[in-house]
Amino acid sequence: MNSLTRRDQLWHLSQKSKVSVLIIGAGINGIATFRDLALQHVDVLLVDKGDFCSGTSSSSSHMIHGGLRYLENGEFRLVREAVQERNRLLQLAPHYVKPLPTMIPIFNWCSGIWETAAKFLGRSAPFSSSTVPQLVQSGVKGHQRGGAIVKLGLMLYELWNLPPIMTKIRMPNHRFQLRTSSLKQFPELSPDIVATAIYYDAVVLFPERLAIELVVETERMSQSANAINYLSVVGMSDSSRTVLLQDEVSGKQFQIQPELVINATGPWIDLTNKKLNQPTDFIGGTKGSHLVLDHPQLRESIGEHMVFFENDDGRIVLLLPYFDNVIVGTTDIRVDQPEVCCTQEEITYLLEMIGRVFPHIKVEHSQIVYTFSGVRPLPNDRGMESTGQISRDHQNKIVKQPGCSFPVFNLVGGKWTTFRTLAEQVTDQSLEFLGRRRCIDTRNLMIGGGKDYPFKDWKRWVDTVAGKYQVDPEIVRKLFNRYGTGAKTIIKHIWEPLLSKPSPHDKGKLNDFDFVDQTKSLSNASSYYVGEVRFIAEQEKVVFVEDFIRRRSNLALLGQDTPQLKAELTEIMADLLPC
Ligand SMILES: Cc1cc2nc3c(=O)[nH]c(=O)nc-3n(C[C@H](O)[C@H](O)[C@H](O)COP(=O)(O)OP(=O)(O)OC[C@H]3O[C@@H](n4cnc5c(N)ncnc54)[C@H](O)[C@@H]3O)c2cc1C
Repeated sequence: MNSLTRRDQLWHLSQKSKVSVLIIGAGINGIATFRDLALQHVDVLLVDKGDFCSGTSSSSSHMIHGGLRYLENGEFRLVREAVQERNRLLQLAPHYVKPLPTMIPIFNWCSGIWETAAKFLGRSAPFSSSTVPQLVQSGVKGHQRGGAIVKLGLMLYELWNLPPIMTKIRMPNHRFQLRTSSLKQFPELSPDIVATAIYYDAVVLFPERLAIELVVETERMSQSANAINYLSVVGMSDSSRTVLLQDEVSGKQFQIQPELVINATGPWIDLTNKKLNQPTDFIGGTKGSHLVLDHPQLRESIGEHMVFFENDDGRIVLLLPYFDNVIVGTTDIRVDQPEVCCTQEEITYLLEMIGRVFPHIKVEHSQIVYTFSGVRPLPNDRGMESTGQISRDHQNKIVKQPGCSFPVFNLVGGKWTTFRTLAEQVTDQSLEFLGRRRCIDTRNLMIGGGKDYPFKDWKRWVDTVAGKYQVDPEIVRKLFNRYGTGAKTIIKHIWEPLLSKPSPHDKGKLNDFDFVDQTKSLSNASSYYVGEVRFIAEQEKVVFVEDFIRRRSNLALLGQDTPQLKAELTEIMADLLPC
């Protein structure tokens, strides 16, 4: 078991010259591969230039899905794999991955047949993404998929909706509702619809937390696995065998000689390879942005359904209920650099899309409480006219530069949904390279707070924990919703000491914070507790306060990232952070 602090890990790194596998990039793909390799007892080091899950993996649409529209591109293998992984994740990470009823508004029955057939046969869609802003303004219409195509797509989609052998989860089948009953259920919906289709996918409510739980539990399970954030690969120290790493906090440099490098830097893959003296041109990324709206009327109008529809050029727009807010996405714009932000043009486009489906709902700019953007690490397919046609499947591109002592496995593409299978495939390839054999399978391994999840009777779980630590069951329920069964460790940490009051003798031995009321709510985010924040900061590799606001909690997505909150958290965590 490895429970080293970041400082200890860096000290060990300075004493160590070799590692079997160096994984560069701690997005979901790097993290999942780290976990799988560590489970096979491989000596593995995972590094990221920023925080864990701070790249593309923190800017997804939060869907765990098969990818209905990939059927049109003929990506049946991917859809089958993704649908089955969706069902599996509902079982393995039930605290974060939840069923998501999804509604598709349908404006006519027959349109889109030609476009779908053309796409399926490999011909370009009639409009490319680069022409979209003009199309939106000029109001060109008519390339949405009609009811017949949606029906066919959903029937195909559900062919693979089988429960994985060891799990029992299978999503309900789709249904169609005609206009009158659709408008009864969604009264704000455009009266131009002819029907709605309701089908089921899944949502991951806290993707960044799912990722950090994988990191932390992997280190706990393994002696030989280390994950360090804010540690960049900056180059090679000699041309052939030694990789140079830099601590982004102190500026200190380290050297390591890996047997194998896994480049999991998503949209940074080519830039990273340049640093490794192995130039490549694998990535042709597209940017996607999302808005988070605090808009009670819109939130009420969509209910618990994600609304999923097409823009006139066939690109997907989604409105996702996220606690009291609504996430609106997304764009799909070619870019040639990985650092991006949401532009005014994208905001205008996304707001206009809402009006297509809910024409009477007006959104003010002041209702946008947060925006986020990321770059899909898609394969370089610049010849493809429409970005929607670029494959979303993953592949491992192997590079071995003459004279270099290690090969580089490059993880191109991949979806959040399929992180486990991608990691499984890359781990098998790595084990083959290292001449080792798989000893543990991840197919049925529960994740983090999904362990011992009370599927049948969560209320009893809540009451038992509340009774044991004498805590208000409402607080236990809230923390259970946030951490699954991991809530019990946090509750024990905060409330157990209160069961036996410390004697004056003990008090002398404890530091000040043990006597600040750990059970107190934050003044600027009342659903969080002081003791909870300190526990997370200590146990989950928080380096900067921002890591907590954006990735250990969902406070940013809830629109609560304020200077006051930052100041409060800085004070609470001050003695725990490495800088
Ligand atoms: C807008 C959008 C919506 C999406 N929606 C969904 C969805 O709903 N469902 C779904 O399944 N998938 C979705 N995806 C796809 C999915 O999010 C990505 O495919 C996946 O997150 C890619 O993860 P990754 O680990 O490969 O890359 P990343 O998450 O980008 O990780 C790469 C990491 O490498 C690090 N790095 C870069 N250079 C260096 C260096 N020199 N040294 C050390 N570290 C370095 C970066 O800091 C980064 O953390 C979406 C993607 C986008 C952009």
